Amino acid sequence: MTTARQPAGTLTAADTGRKVLLRGWVGRRRDLGELIFLTVRDRSGIVQVLFDRARSGDEPVLRAGDARPEDVVEIEGEVVRRGAAQVNREIPTGEIEIVASRLEFLARAETPPFLPEDRTNATEELRLQYRYIDLRRPTMLQNFVLRDEIAFRVRRTLHELGFLEVETPMLTKSTPEGARDYLVPSRVHPGKFYALPQSPQLFKQILMVSGFERYFQIARCFRDEDLRADRQPEFTQIDIEMSFGTEEDVFAVVEAVLAAAFGAAGIEAQRPFTRLTYAEAMERYGTDRPDLRYALPLCDLAPSAAGSAFAPFQKALAGEGTVRGLRVPGGAGVSRKKLDEWTETARSYGASGLVWAKRAGGESSSPARKAMGDAAFEKLLAAGEIADGDLLLAVADRAPVVCAALAALRGAAAREIGAIDTSRHAFCWVTEFPLFGRDEKTGAWFPMNHPFTSPRMEDLDLLESDPGGARARAYDVVLDGEELGSGSIRIHRADVQERVFRALGITEAEGRERFGFLLEALQYGAPPHGGIALGLDRICMIAAGASSLRDVIAFPKTTSGSDLMTGSPSPVAPEQLRDLAIAPVRPPES
Ligand code: ASP
Repeated sequence: MTTARQPAGTLTAADTGRKVLLRGWVGRRRDLGELIFLTVRDRSGIVQVLFDRARSGDEPVLRAGDARPEDVVEIEGEVVRRGAAQVNREIPTGEIEIVASRLEFLARAETPPFLPEDRTNATEELRLQYRYIDLRRPTMLQNFVLRDEIAFRVRRTLHELGFLEVETPMLTKSTPEGARDYLVPSRVHPGKFYALPQSPQLFKQILMVSGFERYFQIARCFRDEDLRADRQPEFTQIDIEMSFGTEEDVFAVVEAVLAAAFGAAGIEAQRPFTRLTYAEAMERYGTDRPDLRYALPLCDLAPSAAGSAFAPFQKALAGEGTVRGLRVPGGAGVSRKKLDEWTETARSYGASGLVWAKRAGGESSSPARKAMGDAAFEKLLAAGEIADGDLLLAVADRAPVVCAALAALRGAAAREIGAIDTSRHAFCWVTEFPLFGRDEKTGAWFPMNHPFTSPRMEDLDLLESDPGGARARAYDVVLDGEELGSGSIRIHRADVQERVFRALGITEAEGRERFGFLLEALQYGAPPHGGIALGLDRICMIAAGASSLRDVIAFPKTTSGSDLMTGSPSPVAPEQLRDLAIAPVRPPES
């Protein structure tokens, strides 16, 4: 009779005396001649296996002596308790070991380029190239166990709330989410292309027109953007859409989904989430994704700066600029080196510089004091409510530059003074986004989200008179300064949709050509509807406490969009191009 296979990581002292069968990978080998120790790893964990001549017999000892890291083995043996001095508290099975009576190699392994252990010196490139070995590392495995649990909870929650999971096409037409499309040439229709979906946006709206009422999908999306460290060209969204609801209904669903998802990692989502409008977020924190684990609100220094002859202030206020600041409580002790670093941070956001001032031991000081004059300087400190021991950071520039610089400095200052309580998590909604943004170079309006977002009804007339002033029924959900998702109540009337297209400079013909099918659908009885998309990869990354999206995506791409394991993208055979009616391109000289 064969013994059933035992998961290695589940054995405890309670199993002492049991005969067990293990199958897994060899980790480390310690060879003491008469005694050989192997660790054996499988999905459940690791256990130590002992081979000794007296108890195991000659052949198993001989074979164990030949075992190498990452060989796949089958081992039979008996669970024995370790002596008190041998107990290993670092692993759950540390109280016992297996005395082996048999060892078979199910597969031999070449020397791996690195050992799949949590602490590794392997470069990320090597880890991505040998991804199958990297994924053997216990923390990587744990990340995917967590990801599976999160996806399962999301599905269960949405299913219980009456949402239907529906798949939408991968080979489709362009969806305007603001990125470039990945195009797929059609062989059957030479010269024509599919686009991979940037999101299922148009399909989910059409499912609402079809009367599905509540849709979701754990959907793959593709965006050909210049990649940044925290982006992937293909990523996964929890895509949601619902009919007949308002913002309140969407918020309730999303809060339930996120509470369930983060619950998988023991992170509590305090409900209801805090809410603030876009205007409030920009005013208080300089960003539409504020980290609310700490206060540190920005302050308006323009009225006091107006009275000073300080040239940078005057310059900003003479144009369309402003002067705003940040009080860093207890920040007077921040080093000069740090302040220089923060000045560089402010410059990296386009600011001409950073003005700092501190009050310590009753003395106020600042490199700008002299240029500002004592009275104006004191007025500035008073406006910033700077008390003894505090630091004031001020930036004078165009409003978007001031906001971006101070938002970054707010985070840096919070870290510096230890104001972030990392045991807490702060979820919030940011609402009432502007409907449009404006391209600084061309002056053209573009949709802040996508062109199907509904304006607030009271702002409808601004579409023609003041497009920049129109607010959208759009919202973002933010966690600890990271955007988890964004969505909106949609336009469900063809006439409003046309007005929005017009404001965006999309002609009727262009609108018809790009999204005619949606416009047409809106004419056949479209219910009011809205939804959201939540970034599953980012949720998993935060829940796992990982520092990179690549640690929660099984086969991710590098920042230049390459898959180092498969070697994609790669050239294709000339015949394939001929079939697709595509002329070969010479790669640009590098
Ligand atoms: N389609 C949007 C996006 O992918 C989300 C939404 O509006 O539901 O960002």
